[in-house]
Amino acid sequence: MSAVPLRSDKPAAGGVRQVTVLGATGSIGDSTMDLLRASPERYQVEALTANSNVEGLAKLAIEFNAQFAAVADPAKLGELRAALDGTGIACGAGEQAVIEAAARPSDWVMAAVAGAAGLKPALAAVDRGATVALANKECLVCAGEFFMERAAAANACILPADSEHNALFQALASGNRDELTKVIITASGGPFRTWAAADIEQATLAQALKHPNWSMGQKITIDSASMMNKGLEVIEASWLFALTPDEIEVVVHPQSIIHGMVEFSDRSVVAQLGAPDMRIPIAHCLGWPERIVGRAAPLDLTKIGQLTFEAPDFVRFPGLRLAYDALRAGNGATTVYNAANEIAVAAFVKEQIRFGAIARLVEETLNSWIRAGNLAPLSSADDAISVDHKARNLAASLLPQIAAKAS
Ligand code: NDP
Repeated sequence: MSAVPLRSDKPAAGGVRQVTVLGATGSIGDSTMDLLRASPERYQVEALTANSNVEGLAKLAIEFNAQFAAVADPAKLGELRAALDGTGIACGAGEQAVIEAAARPSDWVMAAVAGAAGLKPALAAVDRGATVALANKECLVCAGEFFMERAAAANACILPADSEHNALFQALASGNRDELTKVIITASGGPFRTWAAADIEQATLAQALKHPNWSMGQKITIDSASMMNKGLEVIEASWLFALTPDEIEVVVHPQSIIHGMVEFSDRSVVAQLGAPDMRIPIAHCLGWPERIVGRAAPLDLTKIGQLTFEAPDFVRFPGLRLAYDALRAGNGATTVYNAANEIAVAAFVKEQIRFGAIARLVEETLNSWIRAGNLAPLSSADDAISVDHKARNLAASLLPQIAAKAS
């Protein structure tokens, strides 16, 4: 049985729910805390985590009277202890403390750590059979098959929090899985949708961070500009809903109002619409299987006027093509895709490479990995993490030659 429930087969939660937010100080964390803040009578916060933002974490832990707060940076323990002194809130630091936060008993966990670092904490929540709202797409991109198997084995419930996947999740409830013919995930096209390839090549960090519709963390905003984010989402959709690459279509929809669609065998296409506000999919996950009162602005289609659609350009945005290639190759290739992209984005942020070189580094890393005969099935989290580390090292070793090469 899939860990993503296609129908509301679980009873309504009822009563007060214990919740944990992994990545509470980030963009998704912020939207989640906003929803929790609106209904203090419904939710009790068990644990909150951050990477190094002790001030933000302590502030939230005190406001929500959390039981436990964890910061991933071990050097920050003293600072966190001092910030929580006298509050009675337990705390810890280091990777293990973040995992402990996820493992503590709570009904619902938001998995919103950025990057592959989110895998082990998300697995800790999955292994105790929690309901996990999954924003961290890297869990699925790095270790999708294994992650979904572990979730099914533990009877955990995975609720897709990413807006496109949440849209598919909602649309899928209109039919049976064997009646699905394809899914369509939409892409805004990002800030460079209409740019020529030569201009995209030279784009600056400030330009990459100007997303036309969504307000998000830095890494995902850069990934949206390169359309690597859509690539990650194609892979994510494949694991969440057991879809082949041919069953997943990407359509550029600059208004970001339709987030995802499912086509069924009778050619009915069921779509989910909403303002581009992550509080909508998060509210769906938080309330599921019921609907709660949202915090996003209502959708006024008359103000939007028109919804338009374009085919994605795989030449100007090679990151999207590479995602399909990696998905078809399987055997850890998507882990390599993600790892190389994380290295490339970090290098772009440090101005070590041009924007156009992000995709080139990912492609070169994937090709070198495959040429070396390294493709092999992943059978554990440690396997996935080992491939992730090796691929990061490979990408870092290729960085100087990619940086030196003109486009
Ligand atoms: P942010 O960068 O805004 O926040 C990331 C959070 O994770 C912060 O709390 C950060 O702590 C914490 N964190 C970062 N690195 C580590 C680490 N090594 N160990 C533990 N905690 C860490 O990211 P977003 O909220 O934008 O994204 C989070 C995830 O959700 C990503 O996987 C992203 O792809 C996905 N997502 C995001 C969307 C969005 O709209 N933002 C939409 C859909 C999916 P600190 O503040 O201390 O750095």
